[in-house]
Amino acid sequence: MRKSQSTDFALLRRVLATAYPFRNEFITSIVLAVLVTPFSVAQPFLIQKMVDDHISAGNREGILQLAWVFVVVLIVSVVLKYWFLVSTARLGQSVIQDMRNKVYRHITNLRLRYFDQTPVGISTTRTINDVEAINNVFAQGVITIVADFLTLGAVVAMMIYTSWRLTLIVCITMPFMVLATYIFKEKVKVSYQKVRTQIASMNAFLQERISGMKTVQILHAEEKEAAVFRRINRDYTSANLDSVFYYAVFFPVVELVSAVSLALMIWLGARGYLEDKVTFGSLVAFPLYLNLMFRPIRFMADKFNTLQMGLVAAERVFKVLDHKETIPDKGMLSPSKLEGKVTFEHVTFSYDGEQTVLHDISFTILPGQTCAIVGRTGSGKSTIIQLLSRLYDLQQGNILIDHAEIQKYKLKELRKRMAIVLQDVFLFQGSVLDNITLRDPSVSREQVIRSAKAIGADDFIEKLPGKYDFILNERGQNLSVGQRQLISFVRALVTDPDILILDEATASIDTESERIIQHAIEKLIERRTSIIIAHRLSTIRHADNVLVLQQGNIVEQGHPSDLLADENGFYRKLYDMQFAENMQTN
Ligand code: ATP
Ligand code: MG
Repeated sequence: MRKSQSTDFALLRRVLATAYPFRNEFITSIVLAVLVTPFSVAQPFLIQKMVDDHISAGNREGILQLAWVFVVVLIVSVVLKYWFLVSTARLGQSVIQDMRNKVYRHITNLRLRYFDQTPVGISTTRTINDVEAINNVFAQGVITIVADFLTLGAVVAMMIYTSWRLTLIVCITMPFMVLATYIFKEKVKVSYQKVRTQIASMNAFLQERISGMKTVQILHAEEKEAAVFRRINRDYTSANLDSVFYYAVFFPVVELVSAVSLALMIWLGARGYLEDKVTFGSLVAFPLYLNLMFRPIRFMADKFNTLQMGLVAAERVFKVLDHKETIPDKGMLSPSKLEGKVTFEHVTFSYDGEQTVLHDISFTILPGQTCAIVGRTGSGKSTIIQLLSRLYDLQQGNILIDHAEIQKYKLKELRKRMAIVLQDVFLFQGSVLDNITLRDPSVSREQVIRSAKAIGADDFIEKLPGKYDFILNERGQNLSVGQRQLISFVRALVTDPDILILDEATASIDTESERIIQHAIEKLIERRTSIIIAHRLSTIRHADNVLVLQQGNIVEQGHPSDLLADENGFYRKLYDMQFAENMQTN
């Protein structure tokens, strides 16, 4: 599908607008492009003058003088060119550095729904590769193309001024040149797009398989996956070879055309000279002009492609930046402490707008109380806490903390006063300490150790090589699941939150570890409002209130002992089931 020229222009305008903060560099680059032009064109002109005015006249003085001028022109043009290259490169790099920060910040503020729908690979490609390609718009694109056109115009003007006859001869080959350039540009564009698509699919494949290597090996899928990879790799190679092919054809063709121009020029020019229509100096200067003329033409097609690719990338990046689905943060409340009353009023919610996950949920947790949520897998337990922490915004009903709706709190302050231990604990590459403090300088090492002792995580951390400075691998893979969970508990306790939310992992653990975790949870919920999603009912013995959830509805709520007393109740059924399981396993 071809886009119209006008959208391309609008896009180009928008890309150029991103350079606004760096307008000084931009202007410097343009000015340098203009300045460089006469200096590059001056050299053949000086040679022609030298031949016509001084060499044929045998004027030594004049020759020497012009030689000096020539040297000065040469030095100035070299310096200007250096400056031009540095300044366009700096411009491009400044723009994309800025852009990368913008994209990253924007992505981190997007609603979780965006991440539900966008593969990880896409977001990283946007922040790294695509932004990199935008650099080309500045470093190799717009300004250099302007510079090339200026040079081209100046060269042609000088050629006409020097000898219109010779210029005419040279121009005979121009239509071939234009045609060849056009064909090349179109062909390379297509093959470039192919190459980029293939890179993207190779990246996506590798990223997924490497993070899922355990599964690949467990399922003995190495061979099959290798075959898929071979196919992707083959397509990538052939896309690359295609583009190389066009280059291999185009550059010799340009050489050929310029050689033909040169031959024609010398042949017809020599006759002109003999007939006294062309000066000898022009005959010497023309091959130099020709060279100056063909050089930009040779690279221009390529530069247009790079520009085009930069624009394609820019379009993708802008699409991310235009993604307005950020979490609205208009609340003004920022209390230094919450009482800890939580109220859900008729909350109904759906992730995708089609399937309702929570139906008319209402409950109240009084300050300092512990509320447990139980229910089958997929019943909506985690969804309730995601709404409370505003990872998703609700569609109907109200959620209040103390006496205000959660939207009225400043998001950052709200989350600061709440600690959430998610079901799938995520640890980052870095030390145990950094993972607990998340590099918050206001949390001291002593605080961390105190919390770890309170939780009962201190025992195992002390046994790690390096203790609190032990370096965790990506996602904390070098710890056991239970250990990771304990660290996430310390992380929650260390901030001394007013509301604690705990989504218990389903991982089954041995009795000893269960005892440690049990103790840890009791520590966590002490003296604060807590919500615990529990899979092991033993965890919630001390709860003040239990909500039993089924398919997004609260089907029972009350004190655990009261619920247990009801022989036909859901809670009782769950309890009996777990009890029977435990009997079997023990
Ligand atoms: P478990 O005990 O397995 O953790 P849960 O009670 O926590 O289950 P939820 O995670 O709240 O269950 O999920 C409730 C429903 O919402 C499920 O049917 C699930 O398919 C759906 N769901 C959960 N997360 C998303 C999401 N990000 N996008 C779309 N649907 C989702
Ligand atoms: Mg869950």
